[in-house]
Amino acid sequence: MASPLLGIKYDSIHDLTGSADEVPRVINVNEERVINAVREFINAGKAVCACDECTLDILAISLNRTPPRYIVNDIHMNCFGESAGKPPNEDLDEIVAGAAKLVAEKPHH
Ligand SMILES: [Zn+2]
Repeated sequence: MASPLLGIKYDSIHDLTGSADEVPRVINVNEERVINAVREFINAGKAVCACDECTLDILAISLNRTPPRYIVNDIHMNCFGESAGKPPNEDLDEIVAGAAKLVAEKPHH
């Protein structure tokens, strides 16, 4: 029988136990890396528009263009060594820059 944790969103796990750290779960390590890359891009003033809408559009496009890398909890990250850092940061920066260019050309406002 499949674990009941499958299909539960990250936030819901908090509701279940009160502490997400103790629950085995699958996370996409590249999701956090993309979020950080977009944050750095915006903070560096590289975005044509940095409103919430454009920021989220840049994030969504960047996430769609970045292959997911799922692991079981952060604790096991070290087992994966170098492979946990793929794609390299330079590639992520390029993905974010490309997404920002698209959003700048066709903003939703
Ligand atoms: Zn905007």
